[in-house]
Amino acid sequence: MSEEFAERLNQVEQRIAAACEKAGRSRDSVRLLAVSKTKPPAAVREAVACGLRMFGENKVQEAQSKIPMCPSGLEWHLIGHLQSNKAKIAAQYFQMVHSVDSLKLLQALESHAGRTLPVLLQVNISGESAKFGMKPEDVSDVIDAANQMQKCEVHGLMTIPPFSPDPEKTRKHFSSLRALRDQLQEETGTPLPELSMGMSHDLEVAIQEGSTWVRIGTDLFGKRG
Ligand SMILES: *Cc1c(COP(=O)(O)O)cnc(C)c1O
Repeated sequence: MSEEFAERLNQVEQRIAAACEKAGRSRDSVRLLAVSKTKPPAAVREAVACGLRMFGENKVQEAQSKIPMCPSGLEWHLIGHLQSNKAKIAAQYFQMVHSVDSLKLLQALESHAGRTLPVLLQVNISGESAKFGMKPEDVSDVIDAANQMQKCEVHGLMTIPPFSPDPEKTRKHFSSLRALRDQLQEETGTPLPELSMGMSHDLEVAIQEGSTWVRIGTDLFGKRG
């Protein structure tokens, strides 16, 4: 079982390294977030045994029961939609939130965080089928608001493009997110180094377009039930 995980991790690592090389980027410019949602603590322990330390969960309730059963000292990232009324719990369990999709949520996290909380702003870059994410034209005001906060720090942008079996069809959404990031850095004077984009089937294209966090579930842990 553990060998199986090691083999899958090896494959993912090779794909990341190859994509970095092709894009002329260093391997350490891209972080691998292991998406453990729906998987038991035993799966997390296997991943930890293989050297992984950063995990992504999409539901606060699941994280709340899973994280205490996992090894301590890991980094937990929230990657799913969060309701403002759960911001307090989220701020307790997560070291970073990739999925801040409204000013209201950012304000709720600010009021509950006990320390510096790095966040990414989730953008609905395709303007279509994405259920969550702010409109590109709304992001600038949220960054300005965050710059007045004490605890929440915006480190960059995140997106979940509409699914396409052909990763090349997703490329334009990744490049749009990067272009928006470049524009917002200019406009707001805020450094936005992080781009959370790319999942199991499209990590190569995402890395070519500038991703700094790939969020990988299926290709590490196997299919979800
Ligand atoms: C589930 C999930 C992932 C991982 O997707 P895979 O295709 O299994 O790699 C990445 N990002 C988010 C936001 C998710 O919810």
